[in-house]
Amino acid sequence: MERTKYGKRFQGKVAIVTASTLGIGFSIAERLGLEGASVVISSRKQKNVDEAAGKLRAKGIEVLAVVCHVSNAQQRKNLIDKTLQKYGKIDVVVSNAAVHPSVDPILQTQESILDELWEINVKSTILLLKDAAPHLKKGSSVVLIASLVAYNPPPTMAMYGVTKTAVLGLTKALASEMGPNTRVNCVVPGIVPTHFVALYTSNDATREELERKALLGKLGTTEDMAAVTAFLASDDASYITRENLVVSGGMPSRL
Ligand code: NAP
Repeated sequence: MERTKYGKRFQGKVAIVTASTLGIGFSIAERLGLEGASVVISSRKQKNVDEAAGKLRAKGIEVLAVVCHVSNAQQRKNLIDKTLQKYGKIDVVVSNAAVHPSVDPILQTQESILDELWEINVKSTILLLKDAAPHLKKGSSVVLIASLVAYNPPPTMAMYGVTKTAVLGLTKALASEMGPNTRVNCVVPGIVPTHFVALYTSNDATREELERKALLGKLGTTEDMAAVTAFLASDDASYITRENLVVSGGMPSRL
């Protein structure tokens, strides 16, 4: 069992994190787990789910590992059912899955890609929360993951950015629908070098240009995103709902 430098804000709590076998989702699951949560991890591939579960268990974290492609209704239902069968409740849901399948301008994006972006980046969050909502009791918390590009979608991330703008709106609307029992907030990452943005961060010149945009002179880490997600999901944020919190090292965002 790994000794943790963190507190135990999630002792006795059950947290579902989607797309959590790698990248930001994995670090969120790890952070919540190190703080005492039983974490339910998931992604599309059994092998990834098994490997990630092994890494978390090696750190002393209680894990349930389930295959769940977020746009598959049966797998979403199974994720909720398995969680309830094993732990009997859900305290935290982090909806983290997203795709960025095209760098095309919006008006040149194929209809099938527009559908995929809407399906995974927006609709699957709504449908997962529809399944989870009846089980979310007083004091529960939902965290959505948007993106800094939501505020001003750039050319190569245009439609992806627009789906993330929708996630900001979804945060506002769902906080109203799910309150007062459930708080709903949103983490807005800047740039975090993961597979997701390898197109941009694997090139030295592009990466340095992005680093210069951050007042802190560096890109974010998955652990930075996990720390803020854990804060919003925890009772430390018990009077915060309907908010989006930018975690970008000071990149230009909004007023
Ligand atoms: P990542 O490193 O590419 O993580 C991918 C994870 O998602 C893997 O566990 C993958 O496992 C799983 N996954 C992919 N498609 C899935 C699906 N349809 N259903 C379920 N799981 C799926 O991505 P990331 O950078 O951590 O991004 C996580 C979130 O942060 C996304 O919402 C993204 O938009 C947001 N974000 C990221 C950045 C950044 O700079 N990285 C910036 C802003 C916002 P399988 O292959 O096994 O499915």
